[in-house]
Amino acid sequence: MTEVAWDRMKAQELRALAEKNAVVIIPVASIEQHGPHLPVMVDTRLGQEIAHRAARKAGDARPVVVTPVMWAGLSEHHMPFGGTLTLSHETFRMVLRDLVLAITRHGFRDILISNSHGGNIIACQQFIDEMAPQIDATLVFTCYPMEAQEEYAAILEDQETMQHACEAETSMMMALEPELVDTSELDKIAQNAGGPKFLKAGKAGYRWRPFAHVTANGLAGNPARSSAEKGERLIEIGAEAVAALIRDPETWAAPDDLRGEGTGGVPFRR
Ligand SMILES: [Zn+2]
Repeated sequence: MTEVAWDRMKAQELRALAEKNAVVIIPVASIEQHGPHLPVMVDTRLGQEIAHRAARKAGDARPVVVTPVMWAGLSEHHMPFGGTLTLSHETFRMVLRDLVLAITRHGFRDILISNSHGGNIIACQQFIDEMAPQIDATLVFTCYPMEAQEEYAAILEDQETMQHACEAETSMMMALEPELVDTSELDKIAQNAGGPKFLKAGKAGYRWRPFAHVTANGLAGNPARSSAEKGERLIEIGAEAVAALIRDPETWAAPDDLRGEGTGGVPFRR
């Protein structure tokens, strides 16, 4: 199996990958409560698996290397249920910034931030908005359940989208870490949390709330119809969706410059 893990390689191997213009994936995740039946590592474990499989799949097109998972994320909304470790927004951005700068100093130019935790989404997009115009590298962000949304909706029986400690996450953990999943009460712990309504106000307003606002036991969704077989399919499809993003030349292409004669202002990265 092709090695894709940054931390398992030797320095000269990573120098060679930079020479070959390899894509670098930084998986970002969380350590946070995942209901009464799943361990707190879910987002970190799944994010790592998806990134490694995506890197191997896309590796036929161009080399891809995966840094260790940035396991500390933004999980304040899960703190009330215990077991959760969280960073401040400022620290999260600074860690991500310093990792990106270290990676670009080695000569890598195409970096994918591959996220597996909903609470990190806004911060990652904000980070890219701020950072991309300042560095000589292309930063791309995705979340695998969104990248594979259409396929996931067709497979999942009780939900359309990824929720939390739900049919999808429980299935994938059954496939990867079966001894860590407590299946004794899976048919009794469903919580109809109604998607992300805990972050909504009015028709289009946004407000922060803790996850305890919408769930009694920390999960959102119904893990009753979870299975390892379904989990393996979800992981493979999620990894293939991320690999397709990496393979697509448009993902990394320089922005067009449609400025006409006499309309040029400041230069930007080509
Ligand atoms: Zn999760």
